[in-house]
Amino acid sequence: MDPSVFPLPTAAAHQWVVYLTARCNFSCDYCIQKGRIVPGAKRKPWGRYEELPGSRWVEALNAIPVRPEHTLILTGGEPTIHRDFYEIATGLRGYRIDLTSNLSFDVDRFIETLKSEGTVLHSSFHTYHPKFMEPEDFVDRARRIRDSGVIANPVFSLLDLDAFPHFRDEEHDANLRRFHEIAGRRGLRYQRNEFRGNHMGEPFAHDRKRPMKCTSGWVNFAPDGEIYNCQYHLEIRKNAFGNVTALEECRPLPVFGTFFPCGDYGFCDPCHENSGRGAYMDEEGGIFRRTGDDSRIYLRWMDPNEVLEVARRHLDEGRLEEAEHAFLAVIEEGGEDRTPPEVWADLGLTLWAAGERERALGSVLQAIELGSRDERTLAAAVELGREVGERERVRNVLCRFLPASRILAIEEAVASAFV
Ligand code: SF4
Ligand code: SF4
Repeated sequence: MDPSVFPLPTAAAHQWVVYLTARCNFSCDYCIQKGRIVPGAKRKPWGRYEELPGSRWVEALNAIPVRPEHTLILTGGEPTIHRDFYEIATGLRGYRIDLTSNLSFDVDRFIETLKSEGTVLHSSFHTYHPKFMEPEDFVDRARRIRDSGVIANPVFSLLDLDAFPHFRDEEHDANLRRFHEIAGRRGLRYQRNEFRGNHMGEPFAHDRKRPMKCTSGWVNFAPDGEIYNCQYHLEIRKNAFGNVTALEECRPLPVFGTFFPCGDYGFCDPCHENSGRGAYMDEEGGIFRRTGDDSRIYLRWMDPNEVLEVARRHLDEGRLEEAEHAFLAVIEEGGEDRTPPEVWADLGLTLWAAGERERALGSVLQAIELGSRDERTLAAAVELGREVGERERVRNVLCRFLPASRILAIEEAVASAFV
């Protein structure tokens, strides 16, 4: 084909991505390839495709006339589960191949096949997903890949979910702790990746569209070879420019920096706005990308028990503002007087740790009013009463529920503990 009418932008700012498949053998709930990133809701394939066979991919991509050492990402879903993955990985010529994979493939076969074909991939990107692989297994696989020489620059990583306990449970955290320990002991270097699950400070909820101008640095090939400049449109198969197997019929993609109107803003995929390869222009001509992360948005999709679990994790891990927000969300949902006293008590401890002693006292007294007789809560009330000069107020509440001798004992115990 004539390079002067070639329809795909190849400037340095554009990234070519081949989605070999929309399928993945893992189903992470924090996966950003979901319409809604709802904690606990597993990722599903976004559609069924007639996946192009390996020979078609190799033939079409190798026929492209303007590709000297152009970076090409092989991704998915999980690209290695494409039935002809090895034919594609070893058959492409003139590209710097970058592979993203969850590292669940057969490592021996991978190394053997690439070596026997003399293929060296330029780079790869492998994230550890604690719910789907034992840490020993991942570290072992990673070290074998790293030491094999078949990938020049392999990168291993973790998703930084520290501030997002919504997506973590005991199993996740236990595997992560072991991962840190094993990787450290066995000399595997890894990085932490930012969680990109927010859309301009809001959840990726797919609940409101509006018109916007957009620019894109993506050239995305769908599993069936269709070409899009936006992952959302790839997922819903809208606005294809053409097909990789018939590039002579492909419409030219706008180059990065050219803003085009789109009515689907709000449904954009996280990569578009978070990667630096996408941006928007508002009615006044202001150009913007994203705002900061906000873990609170996910609480709206969780039931109160799950929110409470998140709140307690925030408290245990020292994120006091987040803990307070989550405890208050539980209280708001349940109603002040119907919320279990333990929740008020935990809110009190959170506020106390944050230095908000008057509010902390109000919370622990509410816990006691609602029935808490827990030693820790009673002691907290007595000490907080002393600290904020409200001893009598605390005594007046306690004496409605406890004999004077018990109150005295608590006061003495607290006095000696805080001497
Ligand atoms: S392994 Fe990756 S693509 Fe697959 S579900 Fe998990 S985050 Fe998504
Ligand atoms: S505005 Fe969003 S949905 Fe529309 S093209 Fe841009 S990234 Fe895709």
